[in-house]
Amino acid sequence: MEEAVRKLLDLASKGIAESRDDRRALEQLKVRLLGRKGELAALFKNLGKVSEADRPLVGKILNDAKVSLEKMLAEALEESREQSIRRRKRFDVTVPGRMPLRGRLHPITQTALEISRIFNWLGFETVEGPEVELDYYNFEALNMPKDHPARDMQDTFYVSEDVVLRTHTSPLQVRVMEKRRPPIRVIAPGRTYRCDSDVTHTPMFHQVEGLMVGEDISFGDLKGILTIFVHQMFGPDVDLRFRPSFFPFTEPSAEVDIRCVMCRGGGCRVCSQTGWLEILGSGMVDPEVFKMVGYDPETVTGFAFGMGIERIAMLKFGIDDLRLFFENDLRFLMQF
Ligand SMILES: [Zn+2]
Repeated sequence: MEEAVRKLLDLASKGIAESRDDRRALEQLKVRLLGRKGELAALFKNLGKVSEADRPLVGKILNDAKVSLEKMLAEALEESREQSIRRRKRFDVTVPGRMPLRGRLHPITQTALEISRIFNWLGFETVEGPEVELDYYNFEALNMPKDHPARDMQDTFYVSEDVVLRTHTSPLQVRVMEKRRPPIRVIAPGRTYRCDSDVTHTPMFHQVEGLMVGEDISFGDLKGILTIFVHQMFGPDVDLRFRPSFFPFTEPSAEVDIRCVMCRGGGCRVCSQTGWLEILGSGMVDPEVFKMVGYDPETVTGFAFGMGIERIAMLKFGIDDLRLFFENDLRFLMQF
């Protein structure tokens, strides 16, 4: 019997050493040794078989074993409880928290919103249209039939023979005029696509289209509206000039330059030493375009303009590499 008790105590200290940090293993060990059907209980059962003379001594041995087993296990459980508290205390509540990163609008989006804001203030309504566009709206209705040479200027992504990724936001002119009657004042920002990729071109870029149509809209209105826009966008002291140009869907047409915002007109790398920067194309809506949408060119006139949003953003924020906008580098984007 003494031998059996010694084995039991050995088993207990070994088990405790093995599962020192494991509270659940310790609990299981306790049940196995001290439980009602445990190993110690089994020994107590054998007490009846011991001769009456030896019974008091054996009973004392078993009772002593019970006390020391209880003590060993209680100490081990307490130790493991303290361990887990110490582990939790390693969390230092005085360390400053990590701020969650706050999202913000991309500089292109900010610029598009700013352009919209200025034209909304001038009475223009913001409209949107599909980026996957019919050839008809992207070219034909804008006075560029299938064999028109101006199509070659725009490297087009074709989805099928009659469907393209829009190469400019100008299809919105036609879509709006088809649905509405004059007077019309709309501004249409959005994504555009051309099969082109180098330092100054990306396959996807952003444009804003503007259209104003009504009775007696003149080239003077075009100049007035665009002058107000430039002064709102770049400041009231920025000069601008209108340069004759050509677009298939406007006649006459003009490109608008502003005095270089980098060198103030003295000549620098950004303006190729000319002192001027081209920022948009514009013109009076071609009578042929009015005919395509069923307007009478004898009674209505209007002007349209289009500009690249990346270009405006680069000049506004002083950015000299177009690709920065599309690299998703947070160090760059966080500055806006
Ligand atoms: Zn310059």
